[in-house]
Amino acid sequence: MSEQQTYHGSCHCGAIRYEARSAPIAEAMSCNCSYCRRFGGLLAFIPAQNFKLESGEDRIADYQFGQKVIHHLFCRTCGIGSFGRGTMPDGTEMVALNVRCIEEIDPDTLAITPFDGKSL
Ligand SMILES: [Zn+2]
Repeated sequence: MSEQQTYHGSCHCGAIRYEARSAPIAEAMSCNCSYCRRFGGLLAFIPAQNFKLESGEDRIADYQFGQKVIHHLFCRTCGIGSFGRGTMPDGTEMVALNVRCIEEIDPDTLAITPFDGKSL
């Protein structure tokens, strides 16, 4: 088992802040669904239990579309979507980190994996 690292994410205005534990993040997913292609985030997934929202619960807006299985969350003040929430088919609750919002990560150093969300 690889060692877990602690990551710190936030929206632009800083209202929403979180801590996330994960194996070292070296890659991220670029999704081509109708939302993500506009949003432009790069995603890495972790189990919800490894995610801790430190502030901003009351600043979070929730956007859903289509089958409404994913919560595309964003800050009511600055509009930045720093993470989202979803549930796997097996019931596991997941958090999708937008690695562009994480302090410790330089997105330009990550391997980007295309994800064909458009076809789902
Ligand atoms: Zn904000």
